[in-house]
Amino acid sequence: MADHDVDLFVIGAGSGGVRAARIASNYGARVMIAEEFRVGGTCVIRGCVPKKLLVYAARFSHEFEDAAGYGWTVPEPTFHWPTLIANKDREIARLEAAYTATLERFNVKLLKNRAVIEDAHTIRLSTGARVRAETILIATGGWPHPGPKIPGLEHVISSNEAFHLPELPKRIVIQGGGYIAVEFACIFAGLGSEVTLVYRGENILRGFDDDVREHLRSEMRGRGITITCGHTVTAIDKAGDELVTRLSDDSTITADKVMFAIGRHPNVTGLGLEQVGVKLAEHGGIAVDEYSRTSVPNIYAVGDVTHRVNLTPVAIREGHAFADTVYGGKPTSVDHTHVPTAVFSEPELGVIGLTEAQAREQLAKVDVYKSSFRPMKATLAGRDTRCFMKLLVDGITDRVVGCHIVGPDAGELIQLVGVAVRMGATKADFDATMAVHPTAAEELVTMREKAVSYGRSAAE
Ligand SMILES: Cc1cc2nc3c(=O)[nH]c(=O)nc-3n(C[C@H](O)[C@H](O)[C@H](O)COP(=O)(O)OP(=O)(O)OC[C@H]3O[C@@H](n4cnc5c(N)ncnc54)[C@H](O)[C@@H]3O)c2cc1C
Repeated sequence: MADHDVDLFVIGAGSGGVRAARIASNYGARVMIAEEFRVGGTCVIRGCVPKKLLVYAARFSHEFEDAAGYGWTVPEPTFHWPTLIANKDREIARLEAAYTATLERFNVKLLKNRAVIEDAHTIRLSTGARVRAETILIATGGWPHPGPKIPGLEHVISSNEAFHLPELPKRIVIQGGGYIAVEFACIFAGLGSEVTLVYRGENILRGFDDDVREHLRSEMRGRGITITCGHTVTAIDKAGDELVTRLSDDSTITADKVMFAIGRHPNVTGLGLEQVGVKLAEHGGIAVDEYSRTSVPNIYAVGDVTHRVNLTPVAIREGHAFADTVYGGKPTSVDHTHVPTAVFSEPELGVIGLTEAQAREQLAKVDVYKSSFRPMKATLAGRDTRCFMKLLVDGITDRVVGCHIVGPDAGELIQLVGVAVRMGATKADFDATMAVHPTAAEELVTMREKAVSYGRSAAE
C-alpha cells in the first residue's frame, strides 16, 4: 500500500464513476477521479438530461394545439431554438457544478485530464504525470458509432452535436432505429422540423415488443414523421446549404442536417487495456464478472464501457455495488434482469420484462392481455392518438413477466409497475388492486380478457 498514491483511481466522472468514487471515499478509501471532458458524463452533459429537456420543449406544440378543445385561445405560438439551447446549457452547467461539489464534499480528488493505464497499478495523465493506485476502476462510458465510411460522412452529426446546433433544422434525416434515433425524431418533429427516419431493419426499436414497435411507428407517422425502413444511407452530397442524402434504393432526400444514431461503442480505445491484459468481451465492451472485476484482479469496470445494460441507473448501481464490494465489505452484484426502461418518444414508451416473443420462447404457457384505447385528454382535444398496454403473464405461475405501455407518462408508470414485477406480482395481484379512476393506468388492473394464450404441447 505504501507505494500507492491512492487506494482507488477512477477513470471517467460519469454516472458510474462518480457514484463509485463517492461511496468508496465514504468508506474511507483515498480516491482520485480523472475526467477528460466534463464532470457528469454522458447522462448529464449530452445524454438523458439535455435530451429530456428537449423532449419537454417539443411536447409544448401539442399542448398549445390541444388547449383549444378545452376552451383556450392560444395566440399563434412561435419557437426560438437558441433560447432553448442557452437555457438547457445553463441547467447542464448547474448540474455539472453540483456533481463537482459532491466530489469535493466527499474528498474525492478530481483531475481534469485524460487518463490511461500504463500498468496494473499506474495511471498516466495527459499532463505526463503518473499516479500509483492500488485499485483502478474504468468508467469511461461509450461513444456514438460514427457510421460506415460512406462519401459525405463528414457532414453527418451525432447526438453529441444535435444538442448544440446553432439553429433548428427545417428538414432533418436521422439514420437509426434505436431509442436515441426515435427520441430525436420526435423532438425535432415536435419542434417543427420535417423529419425522415431511415432504418435498415424492418421496424424501429429492435428488441422491443413487436406490438409496441408497430403502435409507436404508426403514432409517429400520424405526427408527420416519415419512417423509411429497409434502407441505409449510402452517400451525402453537399449542395450549397443543403445536404442530399442518397439511400440504398437510389432515392434521395434533401435536408439541412443529417444525423446518425446507429448505436454506441464502449469507450475502450487508447486506454492501455491490451498491454495491461484487460480482456474485452465479444460485444467489444470490457469483460467483467458479477462484481465488475476485469481479467486483471485489481482493475474493475462499470457502466457503458462494459456494455451490459447501457442505462444511467444501471451504471450508478454498478458503481455503488463495486464500492460496497471492494471497500464496504459487502460483496454486491447487480441484477441486470427486471430493468424498467422508457423511450421518451411522442407518445412515450415504458417497458419492463419479457417481450411476447421472449415469453413464448422461454415459458411453457403464456397469457397475453392487451388494451388499446383513446386517452381521455385526447377526446376534447380532438387528437387522433391511442394508448397501448400489454401484460404478459406466465400461464403456469400467473406471474406478470412483462409489461409494455405506450402513452403519456409511460416512463413514470413503468417505474412503479417495475416494483410489482420485481416482487413477483401475479396477474391476480394486479386484478385485486383497486383502480385509480379516471386514469389511463387503471387499464393495467382492469384487463380481464386474454387477447391470446399460448401453450407448448408435451412433444415440444
Ligand atoms: C442521447 C442519449 C440519451 C440517453 N438517454 C438516456 C435515458 O433517457 N435514460 C438512461 O438511463 N440512459 C440514457 N442514456 C445512456 C446513459 O447516458 C449512459 O448509460 C450513462 O451515461 C453511462 O454512464 P457511464 O458512467 O458508464 O459513462 P458516461 O456517463 O459516458 O461517463 C464516462 C466519462 O468518462 C470520460 N472519459 C472517457 N475516457 C476517459 C479517459 N481516458 N480519461 C478521463 N475521462 C474519460 C468521458 O468524458 C465521460 O465523462 C442516453 C445516452 C445518450 C447518448
